[in-house]
Amino acid sequence: MNMNTRNKESALVVFSGGQDSTTCLLWALKRYQKVIAVSFDYGQRHKAELECAKEITEKLGVEWQVLDMELLNQLAPNSLTREDIIVDENAPDVGAPNSVVDGRNMLFLTFAAVFAKQRGITDLITGVSQSDFSGYPDCRDVFIKSLNTTLNLAMDYTFCIETPLMWIDKADTWKLADDLGGLDFVRNMTLTCYNGIKGDGCGHCPSCKLRREGYEAFLVRYSK
Ligand code: ZN
Repeated sequence: MNMNTRNKESALVVFSGGQDSTTCLLWALKRYQKVIAVSFDYGQRHKAELECAKEITEKLGVEWQVLDMELLNQLAPNSLTREDIIVDENAPDVGAPNSVVDGRNMLFLTFAAVFAKQRGITDLITGVSQSDFSGYPDCRDVFIKSLNTTLNLAMDYTFCIETPLMWIDKADTWKLADDLGGLDFVRNMTLTCYNGIKGDGCGHCPSCKLRREGYEAFLVRYSK
């Protein structure tokens, strides 16, 4: 596939301001004439996440919409009070590990789809990955395909859910950012750290560890 071909008109990117979704945003900007980013406000522990998303979309000149998902907190388990929940070391970049709700990704994509249809958009871009499969069944390819079918049936509309990171690991996600000319942008502008520190982060939380290991693997794999 030619990286520079803008063969479709518009896309909606599910966007958290993290490494994965920012890479997806850069990916979408290469392919679509018009890109809109949508973020979810669910009372994240770190408002920095939304501020980061705002800053990135402003820098890239991308329209940014925030949907209120505060209701997720009513459903949220808490890893501090429930012993059966293990803090996930491979959490995707869309939230803190102890506020994860079953089916959260399904909910986000479903709300994104409703919004997209209102804007006449069919293509939804999400940074989920099965390669870093972390225990979230609604990040797997089989689920995404199933949801795509369900959304089409639910709204009598032809959605196309694109998952550029589905089969690549963290190292190759850095490689993709590099190929898109956005390596430094993603390194400096994104937030994945659970302690709310942008860029290289606090350096010691599970998310920082994962991000650093991915980056180091990228440097080795591609002899940077
Ligand atoms: Zn950190």
